[in-house]
Amino acid sequence: MIEENKQGLFTLHSGEASQPYNYAVGTYGSKFLTEIRDHNRIVGIKCPKCGKVYIPVRQVCGPCFTPMQELVPVASEGKIVSFTILRFQFLDPETGEKKPVPYGYGFFKLDGADSNFQHFLEVPEDESRLWIGARVKAVFKEKKEGSLRDIKHFTLAE
Ligand SMILES: [Zn+2]
Repeated sequence: MIEENKQGLFTLHSGEASQPYNYAVGTYGSKFLTEIRDHNRIVGIKCPKCGKVYIPVRQVCGPCFTPMQELVPVASEGKIVSFTILRFQFLDPETGEKKPVPYGYGFFKLDGADSNFQHFLEVPEDESRLWIGARVKAVFKEKKEGSLRDIKHFTLAE
């Protein structure tokens, strides 16, 4: 279906699409999600060669191509490496609903990890309190289901 607006611009509607899919997160990915779901704990995976700890977990260390198997505890607190504040409301592709604005999204270096973990960031009333290096902590949902969404967001820890 094609619609024309008052300025003579056309919008093409291709209809609704549903693209459900499933994929396996693997042995270590399952353990990573289970620790969050059942214990409010975040685990990383440690490279036996270079010692780097990655979250979310992965099977091979990128820099040295070494298979990894050792899960290690990582703090649910860390510091902001980068962030943005979203002020334009749009449909969240994971829920199909509009997420209230403003909300933040950031990269966090959790204590004990060598990689960045990205997630939502709660925006305080005084936005100047958000800065690169500020301490944050994970806020876990009460009712969890075994997904990254079991972490509601990160919030300032100070
Ligand atoms: Zn390595």
